[in-house]
Amino acid sequence: MAFREKFNALAGQAASKANSLAAGAANKANAAIENGRLNLKISGEEKKIDTYTLSIGQLMLDKLDAGEQFDDEVMALYASIQASRQVIAAARADIEANRQAEDAEGEPADGPFCPNCGKPVAGEDRFCAQCGAKLQAEAPAEAPGEAEEAAPEEPAGE
Ligand SMILES: [Zn+2]
Repeated sequence: MAFREKFNALAGQAASKANSLAAGAANKANAAIENGRLNLKISGEEKKIDTYTLSIGQLMLDKLDAGEQFDDEVMALYASIQASRQVIAAARADIEANRQAEDAEGEPADGPFCPNCGKPVAGEDRFCAQCGAKLQAEAPAEAPGEAEEAAPEEPAGE
């Protein structure tokens, strides 16, 4: 019976070696898929970190706006933010002024427009009140012989 046991033991070893070889091949095939999954996981977590970093920045900005002081590096960045805020505020004020100028004009599609800045101008104006550009009182130099055109007519924003 000793031979029988030895044979069985050898047969068992061979089977388990074959199994582990097959498993190894499957593992290799799955490794690429698994790595792709892991890379997705990494980039997902990196996106979370970006979001949290922005949130930290927003929290600090709120504190800075409330008058809290931080170290010089942060204060320099805050100064840049404030400078940008001023630029934004000025641009918004310009937009609002432009809107009011258009509203005051009533029918912006009708009047002649400044060829330089596009603002409506009065027909008798020789210079744009908005930007100071000379208006086309005389026939334009590059189109001699053409009938005098007051200003390019742009259709209303439709
Ligand atoms: Zn103008």
